[in-house]
Amino acid sequence: MSWFIRKEKGINTPTELKKETPDGIWYKCPECKKVMHTRELKVNAYTCIHCNYHEKVGSVEYFELLFDNNEFTELDTQMTSGDPLQFTDTKKYPERVIASQKKTGLKDALRSGYGKMNNVDVVVACMDFAFIGGSMGSVVGEKIARAIDYSLQHKIPFLMISRSGGARMMEAGYSLMQMAKTSAKLALLNEAGIPYISLLTDPTTGGVTASFAMLGDFNIAEPGAMIGFAGPRVIRETIGKDLPKDFQSAEFVLEHGFLDFIVHRKELKNRLTSLLEMLK
Ligand SMILES: [Zn+2]
Repeated sequence: MSWFIRKEKGINTPTELKKETPDGIWYKCPECKKVMHTRELKVNAYTCIHCNYHEKVGSVEYFELLFDNNEFTELDTQMTSGDPLQFTDTKKYPERVIASQKKTGLKDALRSGYGKMNNVDVVVACMDFAFIGGSMGSVVGEKIARAIDYSLQHKIPFLMISRSGGARMMEAGYSLMQMAKTSAKLALLNEAGIPYISLLTDPTTGGVTASFAMLGDFNIAEPGAMIGFAGPRVIRETIGKDLPKDFQSAEFVLEHGFLDFIVHRKELKNRLTSLLEMLK
């Protein structure tokens, strides 16, 4: 096989001349391992055309899917996190925040805005998992609280899309306070008789599940989403027993009465609209 061996030394191809398939043309489903065009994936609301796997997407995609013509007004665009505890792990917290902002183009782990969904007014707050695991710090909590204020002032239904690992470790107690704050704001929304729908996506865990994500007038989820408080490993070690199959899947949670329904992302916009029309 001598023709495979490069006899002449020192022949190098500069990186810019190397021919590669451009990134992002093909998408391989992590669930069924089948390949599809990213355009197909997008048209299919970022779900696998073969097995319905729901790709983890962020606020940009959800806003595009839900708001008519992707037209919306974003709320509190400039809010960023402080460093009340001067927290340092492998990195200083402010450095971690800045690095995440550069990586994701987001200010923190949540975007909120209002606009029309099939011509129905709605306020949407959506978590971004790409930003420090969608963790709930003071910015996330405050933006949710303010989005609810906007709902209250204008009497517009509120939709929360959760995807989160839970509280943000680097803000410790300040993170936990967000649970009480958002819950109190939702109580005001409830008193005013304005609908609140909570959509739980993969994964929704920790303090997020333990507060606003489970407080909807309707708690709904995407198929296959992992929903829970503590992780399965922690629970298994605590109770010393094996856990049932599909434990903490949206389907399991639905069967045990904690969800109202599961909705495919392709049908999300229309299902939400009919729900809000009914609640008018
Ligand atoms: Zn698939």
